[in-house]
Amino acid sequence: MKNLPFGQPGNFYKGNLHTHSTNSDGKFPMSEVISKYRDAGHDFVALSEHFMDAYDYPVSDTRDLRTDDFTTLIAAELHQGRTSIDEIWHILAVGIPTDFAAPHEGETAPQIAQRAADAGAFIGLVHPSWNGLTVEDAKTIECAHAVEVYNHGSQVEVDRGVDWPFCDQLLNGGWRLNGFATDDAHALDHDWLGGWVNVLADSLDPDALLDALKNGQYYSSQGPEIHDVTFDDESVTITSSAASSISVQGRGSKSATKMDDGMTEATFPTKKYKDAYLRITVTDDQGRRAWTNPVWFN
Ligand SMILES: [Zn+2]
Ligand SMILES: [Zn+2]
Repeated sequence: MKNLPFGQPGNFYKGNLHTHSTNSDGKFPMSEVISKYRDAGHDFVALSEHFMDAYDYPVSDTRDLRTDDFTTLIAAELHQGRTSIDEIWHILAVGIPTDFAAPHEGETAPQIAQRAADAGAFIGLVHPSWNGLTVEDAKTIECAHAVEVYNHGSQVEVDRGVDWPFCDQLLNGGWRLNGFATDDAHALDHDWLGGWVNVLADSLDPDALLDALKNGQYYSSQGPEIHDVTFDDESVTITSSAASSISVQGRGSKSATKMDDGMTEATFPTKKYKDAYLRITVTDDQGRRAWTNPVWFN
C-alpha cells in the first residue's frame, strides 16, 4: 500500500509537531525548547505558538536554530472563531511562512485554516476531546490533513488526550484523514517525550519533512517502532519492536488482535476491511502504542 511509509527508500525522522515556547504560554525560550528536544533524541520540532492577539500573533522563527542533525518546522496553533459549543478553535498549521499574516476581522476557523493550507501548511485538528470538538465541527475544516490522535499533555494532565475514536468517526463517514501524535509541551517536564511522529524522508530537510507529512508518509508512536507493513491479496503482515499486542481496526466494529509476550510479527486477513480502511496499533508491555495511518482499499 503506497500511502504507508514502509518498504520505501529514505529514513525515519522523529519529531514533535506541537510545542510552545515563551513566545506564547510555554515555560522556556525557543532556543532552550529546541536544545532540550535535540538532547532528548528528536530529529526535529515545530514550535506552534498560540496565534492570538494576547501574544501578538507570534510565529516562532526557529530557522537560525537549525543544525546539520536537527531541524525545525515553522508552525502555529490557530484560534479563530468559536466551535459549536462556543469554545475557541485550536488548529495546528505546520509549514507556514514566518510572516503569516494576523487574522483579518471576522476570519473564521475554516478560512484561516484554508489560508494556512494555501500557504503550504499541513493542517491538523488538535486535541478534539480536550475541548469538546464535535465531528460536525471537524468536517468544516475541509483542508485538514489529519487529526491529533494523541496529545500527551492533554492525556497526562486531564485524561483527554486519546482521539483515535474521534478520528474513526470521521473515517467511518468516509473522511480520509491521517492521525498524528504530539506532546503539546508547555512545561517540558510531565508533558513531553510522550508522543511523536516518525516521518519518512530522503533527508532531514524541512521541505521534505513537510511533503511527507502532507502525504501521510509517517507513523505515530509513544515508544514502539513499526518496522514494516506488507500486504498481499488476502492479508497484512506487520513487523515491529517487541509488542504485547498487535491489532487492526476498520470501519465500525471491524477489528482483530493478536496478543503474546515479545511479539515482533503478526498477520491478519484483510477481507472484512475492504469496504473502507484499516489501521494498525502496536502496543508494548508498558502499554505504550504506535499507530499507522489508515490504509484505504478503494
Ligand atoms: Zn490547543
Ligand atoms: Zn498547543
